[in-house]
Amino acid sequence: MSSDSIFAKLEDPRGLDLPSSIPKVETVSEAAVRVLAPNPSPMTLDGTNTYVIFSKDYSSAVVIDPGPPMKSHIDAVESVVAEKSSTIKGVFVTHTHIDHSEAVMELVRRWKVKAYAHPNVSYMGYESVDEGRSLTNEVSLEVIFTPGHSSDHVCFLDQSGDLISGDHILGRGTTVVAYPDGDLDSYLESLGKLAKVDYRSIQPGHGPAMGKDIGQKVVDYYISHRKARIAQILETVSLAERPLELSEIVSAIYGELREPILWAATATTQAAVSYLLAHDEISQQGAAYLL
Ligand SMILES: [Zn+2]
Repeated sequence: MSSDSIFAKLEDPRGLDLPSSIPKVETVSEAAVRVLAPNPSPMTLDGTNTYVIFSKDYSSAVVIDPGPPMKSHIDAVESVVAEKSSTIKGVFVTHTHIDHSEAVMELVRRWKVKAYAHPNVSYMGYESVDEGRSLTNEVSLEVIFTPGHSSDHVCFLDQSGDLISGDHILGRGTTVVAYPDGDLDSYLESLGKLAKVDYRSIQPGHGPAMGKDIGQKVVDYYISHRKARIAQILETVSLAERPLELSEIVSAIYGELREPILWAATATTQAAVSYLLAHDEISQQGAAYLL
């Protein structure tokens, strides 16, 4: 089967059901509130979703992915905390990409708390989270290491069973696995890992949430989508009459693109090319690739 027909068969299980916009502040559960940052863009979709997770008695709260350091956004997050007469006791990030983490220092400074992230980024001043359950002042989060989108990516399962998925799973479209920090082998493995997690919804870093039924289908779709892309690159390289450079593979697959989508497509294609190289499916000659 040609890769075009593989792609034609791939259907996003969210179909046309996706809302065109999402509310600025939304109650996810008794324990969690989502606050949308006003930083929409082609890379951040509707903007970054910041999550406030409360302890059972609301005395403590943690913030996951504080997002950009925009005053209106930090005010919105803090008023969600103030409404419950709660106190921020820690700041977590799903990963350190700037659209998720830039406001970390501001919250750390204001609340005199620590920031927590994957052990790979402890050099940046973060306390390390361990895989498994972690407790910060009675706010319980299960930490699931999900490298792939970035090497420092983690997902958090809160006490209501809502999975804060960062950029591992997005509310719309598929995620970028950007070479060299992003790694396709790890990404596919981390997608497979979610099959064993008992969640009731996926709360993404960007875009609308999804229930478990659709969520599991989206995870499967993400896996098939990556595999189709790998097959398409392999096909492009094998049909070419000469070795192809990365930019040639990108334009063969995507056609004409503009920034920042061109950057994303190039970094994603490079991740797939390095996957194919690592699996001995293609080889490299200088800056070009061949079977
Ligand atoms: Zn990211």
